[in-house]
Amino acid sequence: MYDYDLLVVGSANADLVIGVERRPGPGETVLGSDLAVHPGGKGGNQAVAAARLGARTALLARVGDDAHGRLLLDAQRAAGVDTAGVLRGGAPTGVALITVDPSGDNSIVVSPGANARLSPRDVRDAADLLRSARVVSAQLEIPLETVAEVVRTTAPGTRFVLNPSPPVELPAGILAACDPLILNEHEARVVLEGPAGDGRTDGERTGGGPVGDGRTGGGPVGDDPREWARALLALGPRSVVITLGARGALVADGVTTELVEPVRVRAVDTTGAGDAFTAALAWRLGTGAGLADAARYAARVGAAAVTREGAQASFPTAAEVAALGG
Ligand code: ADP
Repeated sequence: MYDYDLLVVGSANADLVIGVERRPGPGETVLGSDLAVHPGGKGGNQAVAAARLGARTALLARVGDDAHGRLLLDAQRAAGVDTAGVLRGGAPTGVALITVDPSGDNSIVVSPGANARLSPRDVRDAADLLRSARVVSAQLEIPLETVAEVVRTTAPGTRFVLNPSPPVELPAGILAACDPLILNEHEARVVLEGPAGDGRTDGERTGGGPVGDGRTGGGPVGDDPREWARALLALGPRSVVITLGARGALVADGVTTELVEPVRVRAVDTTGAGDAFTAALAWRLGTGAGLADAARYAARVGAAAVTREGAQASFPTAAEVAALGG
């Protein structure tokens, strides 16, 4: 009865990548490699990852009425994503300007462009689309008030999954809807502690209390992901998944906490691993899998993604995931 297994609401960016011998300092010009343009953005990445696995996937996003926008739409369609919900215009397509040196260190400037114009009203106008998906997945490369509207517009029977990236302190109304809240170690720290190095003393923090006091941005946390999971659950989400890179993932739903072992692979490029993991997890949850089982499948998808270069180009098909075993 649902038209889609997964609706992704989020960003679509063109990643403009130039290799350099040395990244330029202030006022400096350096020559670089030929320009490479890759489809990216966390929303676009998640949608492509899910569709490539075979999920019936739709994307609600905004791109500019320009060549980058057409490139991103083509990439989505080629992967099998339904793009009827992708809005055009209002600003140029979002871009990330990336310079990367031979050691792999990079400098990135992001112009959110049309992503920043995906509005609460756009969400209300897409209410039918939101209600036609078994699972709705969002990230934070679009305005926070737009994500809040997604939470309000999503039907009660639809599962909501949030990857708070880039991380900010989250309002209670969004947190309470997350099932799960899914985040990496850096994102977990910011959600729990507030922005790192923000210059505020503890007494000035918006949360101000000890970890686990049920408020976001509450203060310093230790190094134990199990403690983070407990503290995150105290903020109100129904479940939490913390991705731990090559160490796997921790899942917690208030009843059980379980470490999902990583799949051992030779990592070539970890770009997009979190997006592939999140998309796979969201899709599996919609098919009725339990949280730990869905995370075990997602760990295989994340592992497959790190064995190849790039983000969307690295995402596996279901057959490739099956070939990884586990
Ligand atoms: P992000 O890209 O958001 O930082 P992670 O690096 O935590 O996210 O990766 C997401 C998931 O992908 C991990 O939980 C893990 O399951 C899988 N993964 C990432 N890196 C590796 C790796 N080197 N080996 C095996 N699995 C990995």
